[in-house]
Amino acid sequence: MFGAVRANRTGQLPNCQSTTTEQYLRLKNESALIRRQTSQMRSGYTWVLHRSLRIEGYPRLRVVCACGIGRSIVSSRPVIQLTSLDAPRFSPPRLPLNGKRFFIWTIGCQMNEADSAKVAAMLQEVGYSRTDDELEADIVILNSCVVRQAAEDRVSGKLNALARLKRQKPDMPLVLTGCMVTKQQEKLKKQFPHVDLFFDPSDFDKMQQVVPELALLDDDLDELPHYYQPPVEAGARGFTAYVPIIYGCNFLCSYCIVPYRRGKETSRPFEDVVAEVQRIVATGVREVTLLGQTVNAYGHDLPGTPSLARLLRAIDAIPGLDRLRFLTSHPKYMSDQIIDSVAELPSACEHMNLPVQAGDNDVLRRMRRTYTRDTWMERIAYTREQMPDVTIATDVIVGFPGETDEQFMQTYDMLERTKCDKVHLAMYSPRPGTLSARWADDVPREEKFRRHQALEHLQGRVCTELNAKRLGETYEVLVEGRSKGRWTGRTRGNTLVHFDSDAELVGRLVDVRITRTSPWYLMGEPASAPR
Ligand code: SF4
Repeated sequence: MFGAVRANRTGQLPNCQSTTTEQYLRLKNESALIRRQTSQMRSGYTWVLHRSLRIEGYPRLRVVCACGIGRSIVSSRPVIQLTSLDAPRFSPPRLPLNGKRFFIWTIGCQMNEADSAKVAAMLQEVGYSRTDDELEADIVILNSCVVRQAAEDRVSGKLNALARLKRQKPDMPLVLTGCMVTKQQEKLKKQFPHVDLFFDPSDFDKMQQVVPELALLDDDLDELPHYYQPPVEAGARGFTAYVPIIYGCNFLCSYCIVPYRRGKETSRPFEDVVAEVQRIVATGVREVTLLGQTVNAYGHDLPGTPSLARLLRAIDAIPGLDRLRFLTSHPKYMSDQIIDSVAELPSACEHMNLPVQAGDNDVLRRMRRTYTRDTWMERIAYTREQMPDVTIATDVIVGFPGETDEQFMQTYDMLERTKCDKVHLAMYSPRPGTLSARWADDVPREEKFRRHQALEHLQGRVCTELNAKRLGETYEVLVEGRSKGRWTGRTRGNTLVHFDSDAELVGRLVDVRITRTSPWYLMGEPASAPR
């Protein structure tokens, strides 16, 4: 066999003390050693390979780090599943079904959903099957969120509730991952002694400690794609998928805990992301959403600094992909190049999610958002210039410490002028551990509620107006399932559409003519055969 293989990725070598810039790739049977120059990132603990290799007969490589002559360390982790450039494909689960079941409970953002999907894929690879009933499970995994105190409290409540089950089934591993775990494992071990394993988000190799069968997968667990659906779940095959492309956040918004828990921005290697999307699309996935806390910062930390715009172009070229989205963007990184790419590329959906959080510059400064109201509005204006039909979504927090009524009205005015299709509204609540939690939470709850209501009413009026213009228009809808007896799906602009049809349509694209509108969704009738 002679195939082009790709070895672009980053990773860490546990125990490695190297500060050298030379590391090694070793063929799996260790009969030959190929020395390669690699780049060093940040510290001696991180390795980066960015070469495409052509190696006869060896589909897999093992990375060996040179920590000085005679002190090479072979890590258990960085065995690379190299991807054929020509023929991305899926293999069946590598171990037969073993009768064991896993239960995964996930709260939080799409990043958590994607990580949970990866854990599910790993377990399915070694013969486990999913259950929706924790009482039936042979292993229970909780994926936690800490963005709000309420979310963290829910996780704690769930862990406490599971203590009883753990007493009844002491051999059942109980695992906690997600943002709650980062940097506070020692504290959590004392608080929840019945938990068998804590692991940082995306540190999937740790799962081997409670599922030893995973060690039988001789490639890196990181290489399993997100939202991979092995044939055992073929009936539930996904047609949409989340793909994380950048982890962490380099901003320090004064109300946000994410940077403390998820760390600095770390982009996944360009070729890894493209290869993963190729593999996902080859299984029938039609819509891919690229994820990151600051998704449009993608690539600044990689060799050659590939941008999100470049990544969008590479992914758009993958045959079979119908829709491409990305979440969540930071206004500071929303470049003309990214907007132009979305406007130009056939698969990139005409939808922009650009959180603004407040419309008053002083509030934005205290939130440490690093942009002004005018910057955000200018980005929206440029986006609309390039894509007149684009839909815009944003996030707003009301009642931030010190927010006066006049400052709130700046937000109201900005939203009234901008006319977004969707505004995710939140009332401020202090998050322990953040800067703003040290400030007086001085907007009374009733006042926060009043401001929230005022924006909700405004948004109802704006959406009524925007959607009314859609009457009689025809939109492509990706059908997600049934709701109250009707088919339901989303346009490329992410607007919810309901319609009737006797055909089986899950996962199909249908053109729908809009016959009725409301502020929050559209109703219609099929105007094309499904495809
Ligand atoms: S950009 Fe700000 S709000 Fe978003 S994750 Fe980073 S710190 Fe949090």
